[in-house]
Amino acid sequence: MTKHVTHWIGGKPWTGAAERHGEIYDPATGAVTGTVDFASGAVANDAVAAAYQRELAELVSSEHGKVASDAAGEVARGLEVVEFACGLGHLLKGAYSENVSTGVDVYSIRQPLGVVVGITPFNFPAMVPMWMFPIAIACGNTFVLKPSEKDPSASMLLARLLADAGLPDGVFNVVQGDKEAVDALLTHPDVHAASFVGSTPIARYVYRTGTAAGKRIQALGGAKNHMVVLPDADLDLAADAAVSAGFGSAGERCMAVSVLVAVGPVGDELVAKIGERVARLQVGPGTDERSEMGPLVTRVHRDRVASYLDSGVAEGAVLAVDGRRHQVIGGGGDGFWLGPSVLDHVTPAMSCYRDEIFGPVLSVVRAGSYDDALRMVSENPYGNGVAIFTNDGGAARRFVAEVEVGMVGVNVPIPVPMAYYSFGGWKSSLFGDTHIYGTEGVHFYTRGKAVTSRWLDPSHGGVNLGFPVNK
Ligand code: NAD
Repeated sequence: MTKHVTHWIGGKPWTGAAERHGEIYDPATGAVTGTVDFASGAVANDAVAAAYQRELAELVSSEHGKVASDAAGEVARGLEVVEFACGLGHLLKGAYSENVSTGVDVYSIRQPLGVVVGITPFNFPAMVPMWMFPIAIACGNTFVLKPSEKDPSASMLLARLLADAGLPDGVFNVVQGDKEAVDALLTHPDVHAASFVGSTPIARYVYRTGTAAGKRIQALGGAKNHMVVLPDADLDLAADAAVSAGFGSAGERCMAVSVLVAVGPVGDELVAKIGERVARLQVGPGTDERSEMGPLVTRVHRDRVASYLDSGVAEGAVLAVDGRRHQVIGGGGDGFWLGPSVLDHVTPAMSCYRDEIFGPVLSVVRAGSYDDALRMVSENPYGNGVAIFTNDGGAARRFVAEVEVGMVGVNVPIPVPMAYYSFGGWKSSLFGDTHIYGTEGVHFYTRGKAVTSRWLDPSHGGVNLGFPVNK
């Protein structure tokens, strides 16, 4: 019998009838052992289309609301952590010192903790879990994920993909729910550590509850990310960056720019340039290819975000762009829409500056000097991300050294570190000692052991009650 080899498209062998075939030979005998289908242009296109379909990204978009390209980006950034985890054996290597005393060697190993837990927010239902479980599992732990109840489906698809890839049963588990599930996991005697990502009040609560129960905890909280624009910056590039980072994912990113600090005289020009760009933004459903920005996650959240437009004006800000008037592709229906909005002349005393709004509202603050801007950023209770826009290398370098924030971008508005660095803010943006993923993630999910060994031979005999010193 001769064999027949065909294409593999979309998870299964192709069942069509090929117009052209090639022959497969056994080179040892010269006999034809089978045929292989040759793809037409149409079949090749089908394969590309299947490869392009990203089920995980579609699921994220359908429950979170973010547009398809943004959801695909989230999955891609999560996969970077998976790739990092695939090679992390290198980071589990211990040290070895030979003959620290006569016949005595010392070495260190890192061991897994056991059962570890991840509690994740709604805004990255695929990526944030992927910040955690690939590293936890590659370090030898088992994992229980408690995803956000607002967009729970991505976690189930991740579980299925891991099972399909051959992960043994019980290594990755998903528990859906809210506070009751979180409390049970945080206090369970067999749970050794928990990674949390979410808002600051809950992060603080999780840190306190978990550490009181003797667990190792890293709890990443909310943010108020500033983008400082110095007078020498290219204002067109700065305006592009502010709009991209302020309104991407409808501002529901922990690294979104929510405060623009215009230093010196550039405020009016910047606000005008931002206004032009915002007016052209396409707001619509994540399923519509034209959409650049989707709806907010719930009605309650949309209403809370929109309330800052009124409170900002009441407290003295100028509503430069009112997102409530922005047209939505398809009309919007009963969806949770709020277009991109800009509050100008905001001051640090206003609630729109103090609170994490977590929506498409950009506050513009004027600062008289570099020092004023630096002080404002460093005095903010949050310390997740910050960006400086300038062409002055010396000023940027000084800012990097001086600012009290965990992740800094120089002419990069959303400085999310690559998978082999670690992600984490300072102050009220992170409770715990280690940042998430990267090398610090490996340390979080393992504990060290130092071993001192001697292989006895007859020359080592004799009792000695003195303190062990190295000779
Ligand atoms: P959230 O704090 O409401 O929820 C996060 C998780 O905690 C969810 O799994 C939720 O079910 C659980 N939870 C909610 N209330 C709880 C309670 N009382 N007790 C125990 N568990 C509880 O956050 P969210 O609204 O889902 O996400 C948005 C927030 O997450 C924003 O503040 C954003 O800045 C933050 N965030 C931070 C980072 C970061 O890296 N620092 C990343 C993404 C999101």
